Amino acid sequence: MKLATGVMKIANGTLVDGTGSPAVRDAAVIVKDGRIQYAGSAAGALDVGPEATQIDARGGTIMPGLVEAHFHPTYFNVAELADLDIKYPVEYVTILASCNAKLALECGYTAARSGGSLHNIDVWLKKAIEEDLVPGPRLAASGREICGAGGLMDWNPEHMKLGMEGLILLINGPDEGRRAVRKLVKDGAEWIKTYPTGDAAAPDAADHHTLCMTFEEMAAVVAEAHNYRRKVTGHCRANEGIKNALRAGFDSLEHGTFMDAEALDLLLSRDVPVVPALYFEKASIDFGPKYGMPQAVIDGHQETLDGGAESARMILRAGGRLGMGGDYGFAWNPHGDYAKELSFFVNFVGFTPMETLVCATKTGSEIMGRSDEFGTVTPGKLADLLIVDGDVLADITILENRKKFIAVMQGGVIKAGGLATANI
Ligand SMILES: [Zn+2]
Repeated sequence: MKLATGVMKIANGTLVDGTGSPAVRDAAVIVKDGRIQYAGSAAGALDVGPEATQIDARGGTIMPGLVEAHFHPTYFNVAELADLDIKYPVEYVTILASCNAKLALECGYTAARSGGSLHNIDVWLKKAIEEDLVPGPRLAASGREICGAGGLMDWNPEHMKLGMEGLILLINGPDEGRRAVRKLVKDGAEWIKTYPTGDAAAPDAADHHTLCMTFEEMAAVVAEAHNYRRKVTGHCRANEGIKNALRAGFDSLEHGTFMDAEALDLLLSRDVPVVPALYFEKASIDFGPKYGMPQAVIDGHQETLDGGAESARMILRAGGRLGMGGDYGFAWNPHGDYAKELSFFVNFVGFTPMETLVCATKTGSEIMGRSDEFGTVTPGKLADLLIVDGDVLADITILENRKKFIAVMQGGVIKAGGLATANI
């Protein structure tokens, strides 16, 4: 991805740098050749000279670009999981994934970690984004997702002939787990996404269901992935499944819904980050009936929401790490709504806006293994920035409104927001 050239000064805004440090009123950020050179009070800023590009933050907020930590560019706002298998061919899903990547960038998300991909699209989408062929977040690519046969993603009976063949690698036993990882590595996946536990959505693998993969399968997947320096994450809701995943050596947990004190200790002892994705549950409860969701499933989502919120608070209070990612790509939780996750954490889970923003920027970059490159507004890092017309700390819901974005930058290049439109 190309970096900007020359010097740019952003001023007349409040700096929220993503580290959790107090906001700096009347701040300035200076960008040189696509990297942050200075971030702090305007009074302390160097003189940039008359050649520099000047950007007026209009009294709003200057912050790091957001990191979507559980992104599915290939999920095309489906109402049924089976749609992922049968509705469109890979050619069309690739185009939809590219559109979703563009939308995420326009929504202020300058980086994203994939939570699983149809076919091998994310690997190639990442390449197209890196080569500036299509706009999108800097991507950490997953490939197809690994699930035990008969587990959460293999719920359709045989006569339906639905193997989730674009999305899922079904395994039976540790050897098949190793084989699946080797295939994913060969095809370029950086993250190995797995399904250790069930979910409220599944009739036979509900949210307290632990064994969508056995411990031996999970351990084999982790050992093989780590052998190739790849990372492993998993859909982990049930308490015992969370402990299995942590004992098996998972590098992050998706959801981390039902956790007891022992699970928390295991999590903290290895400082494993968790991406709760809670607004998905709220959206399922609110909009599920419109899509024919049975009441028992909606009740399951409520239990998941309550348990997930409690676990997220527990993890935050104990000093653990949480990423903000929303599992968007379902009819009731469509692409473009990404920042609703942040508002939900402030308005319903009880996080402060500052805590939420640190999760959505710095921790997201840490989960991607790229915190030395972006995620905070710190000298030396890439100028992946979001400039917002409004006080995000006073009202985090402003981040849901793209019309309020003055600029979305990657490496100092303005990719979206009002200034990008004005330049066309
Ligand atoms: Zn997901």
